[in-house]
Amino acid sequence: MYDALILLSGGLDSSVNLYKACAEYKKILALSFNYGQKAASQELKAASKLCKLLLCDHQIHNLDFFKSWTQTSLINSKKDIPTNIKLTSKAETQESAKQVWIPNRNGVFLNVAASLAESLNIPFVYVGFNKEEAETFPDNSIDYLNSVNKSFKFSTLNKVQIKSYTKDLCKKEIYKLGVEIGVPVKDLWPCYFGGEKLCGECESCLRFFKASV
Ligand SMILES: [Zn+2]
Repeated sequence: MYDALILLSGGLDSSVNLYKACAEYKKILALSFNYGQKAASQELKAASKLCKLLLCDHQIHNLDFFKSWTQTSLINSKKDIPTNIKLTSKAETQESAKQVWIPNRNGVFLNVAASLAESLNIPFVYVGFNKEEAETFPDNSIDYLNSVNKSFKFSTLNKVQIKSYTKDLCKKEIYKLGVEIGVPVKDLWPCYFGGEKLCGECESCLRFFKASV
């Protein structure tokens, strides 16, 4: 019997949620997805490592159907992921968001997670939403979280609730919190690419490194 399910990508926000949940609850299940993303093997490696460190159970599921229809650069090998964008430019961040947007990805993730949570009678699902990215990614926002919770009152019998320890925080605050609670930030994989090392140039790396200084 688990107390909470954590959506875990192996990046900063979800990892901080995992560590916070492990401190609050007795038994945690982490859930990661391989949806054909370029960074899949590195992300899953980072996620597995954290679960081993915390001695929590971890399920990985394939959602490879995304590959057959999305044209976005996080998955499609023929599309280039934008690099070295100016984080202070709304036009550039909006364009970058469009390039890496995967149609209804978080909607699918949360619904799969809620289905698993209902099946295992888990009341809560934690996600790594954050205030900073909610400005360009509406599916990271508190409004979205509240809307999904309303819908789960209809679509799950145990009324699964989505929660997030980081939804009110910007990246810098999340990084600081992560360090304080012992998240091994050097072992995380925030990068959109799946190279040997973090690229340091994609939007996700740029935000991660900016948060770390
Ligand atoms: Zn990167």
